[in-house]
Amino acid sequence: MSEIRVGDIVAAPGEKKRGTLTVPGSHDPDYNPKIIIVNGAKTGKTLVITGGVHGTEFASIEAVTRFANMLDPSVMSGAVIVVPVANVPQFRERTQFVSPVDGLNLNDSFPGKKDGLFTERLAYALFDVIRLGDAYIDCHGGDINEDILGFVVAAEGTDPALNQVSLELAQCYNTGFIHRFTAEPGLSISAQELLRIPSIMPEAGTPFPVREESVLFHVDGLMNILRYLEILEGEVIRYQSFVSPERIKLYSSHDGIWKSYVELNQRVEKDEPIGIVKNSFGDVLEVVKAPKRGIVGMKRCYYSVKNGEILVVLSTL
Ligand SMILES: [Zn+2]
Repeated sequence: MSEIRVGDIVAAPGEKKRGTLTVPGSHDPDYNPKIIIVNGAKTGKTLVITGGVHGTEFASIEAVTRFANMLDPSVMSGAVIVVPVANVPQFRERTQFVSPVDGLNLNDSFPGKKDGLFTERLAYALFDVIRLGDAYIDCHGGDINEDILGFVVAAEGTDPALNQVSLELAQCYNTGFIHRFTAEPGLSISAQELLRIPSIMPEAGTPFPVREESVLFHVDGLMNILRYLEILEGEVIRYQSFVSPERIKLYSSHDGIWKSYVELNQRVEKDEPIGIVKNSFGDVLEVVKAPKRGIVGMKRCYYSVKNGEILVVLSTL
């Protein structure tokens, strides 16, 4: 393995190096994300991992940080480059989905711009790291309004061979189901189309509290991917997850109080009630029903809801 360089951080074979990724342009230097390069003693593939592209999706951050600390370069054939908290301003201020600096969603800003707004420049700097990889994993989870038990998004682009690899990467996670998202610009996983690097987005957890099972969903999946890429020795576990054909988002039609009747990953039948929205007298304003047979992939975790806000995402069977 030759040395790996990101900016002025250089990791020789067998070294683990920590540093800071410099985002181009002018901003608070504390917004530059931390980066860890783990360069294996032997030659092999390179895996790039980001956590906290949505900076409030804390289970992904906890997992990616823990994973980086578990890695021992002396037994690795290949390299792992980890950005534990990609979106520092959002992590710090706990804004929902968007950056407090410029109101942009980082996961709608890739591949970014060298001279754009801060979030666009951040996306540009991250893409420059992602391009070093043979595979890219962008770990997400429920944002501050969401709870997710665990699923994986595999990028789908115009190259069937890359599509197959991203599906196999997704199947390294012990997930109930997988979704295919088009690898279109905006999303981090557009790296599959723009950089020809197979890309997935595992999703698990909620910020309050960070559950151990959500952290382990990510950590175990990432470890399995290291075996799949032959960066680590060992047998790959291949999970038999099905690909859900459709995600259906259900929104509230009222301001009020949300009460869910369902649990995460619960199977529901068409027309089954999955929750209600009440007013502050306790009167039922609407009964939310499943439009199709599916699995509850995401559930709102706030008590209050506004008209037009999301309640549940159903993954169809
Ligand atoms: Zn996210």
